[in-house]
Amino acid sequence: MKDQAQGIARMQDTNQATHGRSQVERVDLARLFANEGADAFADAFSGSHPVHPFVGLGPVPQESVGAIWQEMMDRPRQQTSVAYVHVPYCVNRCLFCGFYQNAWRDSEGPVYVDALIEQLRRDRDRPYQSGAPVRAVYFGGGTPTLLSARDLSRVIEAVRTYLPLAPDCEITVEGRVHGFDLDKAAAAFDAGANRLSLGVQTFDEDLRRRLGRKTDRRALIAFLEALLRMDRGAVVIDLIFGLPAQDAAVWETDVGTAIALGMDGVDLYSLKLMRDTPLAHAAETGKLTPAPAEALGAYYRAGAELMQAARWEALSASHWRSGTRERNLYNLLVKSGADCLAYGAGAGGTLHGPDGAYAYRNTADPAHYRECIARGEPVVAGLMRQAPQAPLYNRVKAGMELGHLDLRTLVDLPACPPDFDPRRALGPLLDQWQRAGLLTRDGPWADLTLAGRFWQVRMTQNLLRWLSQALDDANATPQAPPSTDRHHRQ
Ligand code: SF4
Repeated sequence: MKDQAQGIARMQDTNQATHGRSQVERVDLARLFANEGADAFADAFSGSHPVHPFVGLGPVPQESVGAIWQEMMDRPRQQTSVAYVHVPYCVNRCLFCGFYQNAWRDSEGPVYVDALIEQLRRDRDRPYQSGAPVRAVYFGGGTPTLLSARDLSRVIEAVRTYLPLAPDCEITVEGRVHGFDLDKAAAAFDAGANRLSLGVQTFDEDLRRRLGRKTDRRALIAFLEALLRMDRGAVVIDLIFGLPAQDAAVWETDVGTAIALGMDGVDLYSLKLMRDTPLAHAAETGKLTPAPAEALGAYYRAGAELMQAARWEALSASHWRSGTRERNLYNLLVKSGADCLAYGAGAGGTLHGPDGAYAYRNTADPAHYRECIARGEPVVAGLMRQAPQAPLYNRVKAGMELGHLDLRTLVDLPACPPDFDPRRALGPLLDQWQRAGLLTRDGPWADLTLAGRFWQVRMTQNLLRWLSQALDDANATPQAPPSTDRHHRQ
């Protein structure tokens, strides 16, 4: 549903492009600069908007996956951790969606949940599962809210029984309004969920029909109001800008409606025209015309300014909250490199293994997943090894996600040559972006402007690419002996 939030997307990241650092094509670094003197929202960067930032992963040969996974399961989890539970079914495919996997049938729910519960139960005492407290759990999809009230309740209770949850653990159930109801919401809250994240995309009746959303505006608003009246947990929604036939007035009405409803949190996402989606095909044949890339920044700016005017707090470049009930923990922790336990068919996670961190994904076919569970076999189907410099990249991603990068957090990290100072290495790029109006500098901080927040994903990708090349160069250069006083460089 939400590509930035999902365990499912985490391995799709890895399948798309730039795997290990050694495999990254070198680029002319000038290409990573922004255009100066332009409208920063419209023209700071040209070319297509990347779907995900570079993550620095290298493939693991398939024949090694089983043995490495066995070692990973025996390794006590020690880092800040989250868990992702995937429900890979949808009633229909939304026009813009690149994450649709399996058609929902009511008969699938109970057997799939049985398998999920068994996956959680069977490893309850393995060190990888029973280690450090889990601070956030995300039921994503697909559409977890399609599960019956009983199945939602069973699987949430299993998570609480078999995972070492922190007392203040955020437990999110993602979904959509169609197929959800107040009884299911009550069952989820009763079982221990404390956050609902619903894909609304737009409140506009005509646009909703075009997108394949099945609930009309009036029913949608009435349902959201009823969820908020329950007063049992955070209720957050996503809205998308750049949709076909969505002009500025429709967009501002969408954002204004979310504010007026008093949602606990709202994500404002740019439409991403993903390959092989119905929307991409409709755009290719001229049947539908999404907003041009250079117009998207104006939508973001309008939405963000409405949020600011209403005094909502920006928790990230794309997420705002109206009060303190909403925390957005899962998304923020995943992007800062937390370990992630993955449950369900097609789920992806990250754990430490024999020689560093690995991203892993479970087999995607629900029938095969259930067979593996029934036979007591592992469900992990693939591994990617994180670059040794992943801690550095994760600090960059975490800071950029928050909109303020603390350059002091980038020094003295593992796998960087002793004389490599990322602050110095990044200086020319950050200075140029400051001239282009994308950030300001305040001592050790690089603070994104509103235009910088719009370009955050692109800028993060460029920062990682710049750092990756700088590290390659530093590793290729003979090093001076390490200083006896490492702090003099700070
Ligand atoms: S509900 Fe729609 S947007 Fe969400 S995963 Fe399914 S097809 Fe995609």
